Amino acid sequence: MAPEIVTVPCLSDNYAFLIHDPASHRTALVDVPEAAPVLAALDTRGWQLDEVWLTHHHDDHVQGLDAVLDRYSARVTGAAADSHRLPALDVQVAGGDTLDFAGHPVQVMDVPGHTLGHIAFYLEAAGAAFTADSLMALGCGRLFEGTPAQMWASLSQLRQLPGDTLICSGHEYTAGNAKFALTIDPDNPQLISRSEQITAARASGIPTVPSTLALELATNPFLRAADPDIRRRLGMNDAQDVDVFAEIRARKDAF
Ligand code: ZN
Ligand code: FE
Repeated sequence: MAPEIVTVPCLSDNYAFLIHDPASHRTALVDVPEAAPVLAALDTRGWQLDEVWLTHHHDDHVQGLDAVLDRYSARVTGAAADSHRLPALDVQVAGGDTLDFAGHPVQVMDVPGHTLGHIAFYLEAAGAAFTADSLMALGCGRLFEGTPAQMWASLSQLRQLPGDTLICSGHEYTAGNAKFALTIDPDNPQLISRSEQITAARASGIPTVPSTLALELATNPFLRAADPDIRRRLGMNDAQDVDVFAEIRARKDAF
């Protein structure tokens, strides 16, 4: 049986994710924006927490960890490169490493850009990638530390995953991202219908995360730097993809 994924809304617009393997009863948590909703989600299901995987050092992804560890002596995994500014790690990893979760391989991917030490976790058995503030629903993380070239390389790595991969990203920013995406790619029919679905989902309080990689490839402007319509609209027909990406990122920063 495939591991089950639960999206846990935290704070005003963050997401944590629980991953539960039904055969072994093992449970992992990706990021800890806040302890209470995570503990409640575990209690509701009668799950015990075994593992915590951290994507990056920002407070809104780690600040609930101590309170979670007061309840569970879970093993904490994060990027070796950021161990100096992450909470205390039991396991230090780097891109290319493979973890084991209840007999299922978990690929660690280096996805710098938002922060330099940002990592993602790909759990093929669940068809899910935990991307936090790298690839996001209709967006990508702001470049606080990395360069456009670094984020473009990170997104280029993630886009190689299977199209039906669930993109479990770190924030509910999708409605705002949709408004911006429509300024870049206004004639894209899939983007238009996705943004209508997003408006409806948010009006009902339904998370728009996770999405699928295929949907992101069809609608997320940060993955679509090669699209001829987008290039024409930006006046960048002959530019490199990375420069088109950088222009889209700069426009989003000013949006
Ligand atoms: Zn962040
Ligand atoms: Fe964040």
